[in-house]
Amino acid sequence: DLESTQDPRRAYDLDRAHVFHSWSAQAGLDPMVITKAEGPHIWDADGNRLLDFTSQLVYTNLGHQHPRIVAAIQEQAASLCTVAPGYVNGARSEAARLIASHTPGDLDHVFFTNGGADANEHAIRMARLHTGKHKVLSTYRSYHGGTQLAVNVTGDPRRWPSDNGSSGTVHFFGPFLYRSPFHSTTEAQECERALAHLEQVITLEGPGTIAAVVLESIPGTAGIMIPPPGYLTGVRELCDRFGIMLIADEVMSGFGRSGRWFAIEHDGVTPDLLTFAKGVNSGYVPLGGVAISDAIYETFAHRAYPGGLTYSGHPLACAAAVATIRTMEDDAVVENAARLGSDVIGPALRELSEQHDWIGEVRGTGCFWALELVADRDTREPLAPYGGSSPQMAAVLKACREEGLLPFANYNRIHVVPPLNIGDDEAREGIAKLGVALARARAAG
Ligand code: PLP
Repeated sequence: DLESTQDPRRAYDLDRAHVFHSWSAQAGLDPMVITKAEGPHIWDADGNRLLDFTSQLVYTNLGHQHPRIVAAIQEQAASLCTVAPGYVNGARSEAARLIASHTPGDLDHVFFTNGGADANEHAIRMARLHTGKHKVLSTYRSYHGGTQLAVNVTGDPRRWPSDNGSSGTVHFFGPFLYRSPFHSTTEAQECERALAHLEQVITLEGPGTIAAVVLESIPGTAGIMIPPPGYLTGVRELCDRFGIMLIADEVMSGFGRSGRWFAIEHDGVTPDLLTFAKGVNSGYVPLGGVAISDAIYETFAHRAYPGGLTYSGHPLACAAAVATIRTMEDDAVVENAARLGSDVIGPALRELSEQHDWIGEVRGTGCFWALELVADRDTREPLAPYGGSSPQMAAVLKACREEGLLPFANYNRIHVVPPLNIGDDEAREGIAKLGVALARARAAG
């Protein structure tokens, strides 16, 4: 059945005729055809091999076509492709057990969704019903998904067209020392001021109205801003003091990306609800979910939870999760991500920043890094405006592709987010290509 889909030219033409793409004006699009992928590489329609420094949308944490995940999906497909959520399925039960064995504290109950946005929607619904309160606080410079509530919780320009003021969401500033909203000069100061700011927002919004604070443990798409030590602990304390649920969005930062199973572990904090997707099964089949604390589980022990999805805990997706998590355990993938960050990627990017004055800051951990590109290191003027692009950024991205590197870019940033099992030499090679691309774009003006 699929033979006719293998012709790249036909695939491209049919895409332009019939496929409506995310977040884009359709007419100007010229999407790349990917014909093949393996490990950290992809191939385009002309047969060029590119090193995938994006992990697609930061989800192929074990790279492309990992044989154990492919085999698990095939095995599950051969035996039982699908059963509805109300029935027990072995792959789903085992995936839930494995996830619960790695989530912090008492987050031992798992509600499965199709992805990250609906995981956040359900986590917020649970928090609202558990607390009897409605308002949700989240940060500017964040991304929580594209559905109506999740995009309103989001703090980036993609929220604006969908914000009609009726979602019960309020935004505050998280810590971001390089562009500090609090004019801080040290991490300790940024931490203290960001917490004082959040306490004020809670007080002024009314603690009795706030169901949840939703935070990416490390904001991802918005810039990989590592929170200063103590910040997440401080948010936890504020939530406890005011009877507010803490929802950690680990959709991008979870499952090893930051060098820990979950990024919130860097501060030793247990949230009330934790949302995940992407890396849970390397994104081979859509899967997300909410890990739920004992207390919130109790709220729904004798009262129906008013929510569900046709594909909640789909066996093919859960089989992929079982193989992914077992591979991560067997191959010490999380430890490898931490080592790559501290010994390979971090040092190589810092070295790069010494050679290229467009790099204003290098920040990250594990396989989760951002380069903040600036037109001027002193003023920190971004190389592209917030919410937009620029000829210089476009030139960097074009040069990356010509050098055989697939880069992840957002406004004035390049993110270095390869798979967690990339080889040391491949990681260094990709960063060298990035260096050549930066130099070429700089020379072009
Ligand atoms: N939360 C975070 C932190 C994300 O990075 C994303 C996607 O990039 C989402 C939620 C939304 O996930 P999905 O696109 O699977 O709905």
